[in-house]
Amino acid sequence: MSFKNFPMVTRVVYGRGCSRQIEEIVKPVRKNGHPVIYFADHCFKGKTLEKNIPIQKNDKIIFIDTDREPTTAYVDRLRDELVGEFGEISGIIGYGGGSVLDMTKAVALMMTNKGSSADYQGWDLVKNEGVYHAGVPTLSGTGAEVSRTCVLTGPDRKLGMNSDFTPFNQVILDPKLTEDAPKDQAFYTGMDCYIHCIESLNGTYLNAFSRSYGEKALELCKKIYLEKEEWDDESYEDLMMASWHGGMSIAYSQVGVAHALSYGLSYVMGIRHGLGNCIAFNQIEEYYPEGVRDFKKIIEKFKIELPKNVCSELSEDEMKKMVGIAIRLEPLWENAFGKNWREIVTEKKVRELYEKM
Ligand code: ZN
Repeated sequence: MSFKNFPMVTRVVYGRGCSRQIEEIVKPVRKNGHPVIYFADHCFKGKTLEKNIPIQKNDKIIFIDTDREPTTAYVDRLRDELVGEFGEISGIIGYGGGSVLDMTKAVALMMTNKGSSADYQGWDLVKNEGVYHAGVPTLSGTGAEVSRTCVLTGPDRKLGMNSDFTPFNQVILDPKLTEDAPKDQAFYTGMDCYIHCIESLNGTYLNAFSRSYGEKALELCKKIYLEKEEWDDESYEDLMMASWHGGMSIAYSQVGVAHALSYGLSYVMGIRHGLGNCIAFNQIEEYYPEGVRDFKKIIEKFKIELPKNVCSELSEDEMKKMVGIAIRLEPLWENAFGKNWREIVTEKKVRELYEKM
């Protein structure tokens, strides 16, 4: 048995308003006059957040289109544009939710690795350390701020660039920045964190390391979503830390059934990760009885209407493709059901689950 020896985020700063320190943090990173590139979710165009980005001389802000989840083609295009315009850059700082954070990690890696990002989807395929990359979450829940991966949709799969070079060099946790996110999106992203906890804590890969983080994250999620009457300032702070701990928990275990199904929904129908997880999780009470029961209470309390019959318009080919995408995520199923997962997870079963959604 070989144990994973994984790297962590090198530096982290936490606190309400701490994102104002960015220039001070970035200063030592500036190399030979090469610019710092800021990625920001396109929803921040013209908003206060854009005005607060401390651009200097030849620095540049690039707005990231997050209407769809990151693709390998998008990563390659941004890399090519940056190389064409600047040759070298000092680093990339990304402001946004999981999509922008993953784009930041991916483009930073592709600045120093040849070819297409699609060549590096998988485990430990990245050869060279990327340029400096920092993440500034403006949505809490995905755990992308701590993860060792950046999930991309490629020509034939949705899979991350998992590598020792992927984690951020710096993360800036400023709960204030998460206060203005659209309510639905914030909810689904928060539930991503809740589902990370349930899938990690109920998985066969669980160990004391993962459990210690998963239990803390779940405790915070329950406090925010079930116990408290009203959402308040402290809820933003708690969710930010729940996301961090949830991400740490899956780093040393794995996600499970809802994530496997959600990847299929995303690949074939472009349903975003957080929403896809909610749609899938809602139908798998047989695997996570307590977690799904509480989830249903949360959905009711926050008056969320999940889309129904999402797969009803799919062609036979699309359905087959979706089932295939889900089943190929072997570590997720193995975490959920153990070594003999193939006895439980058949094409027929996965299809039935999709048909219920
Ligand atoms: Zn997730």
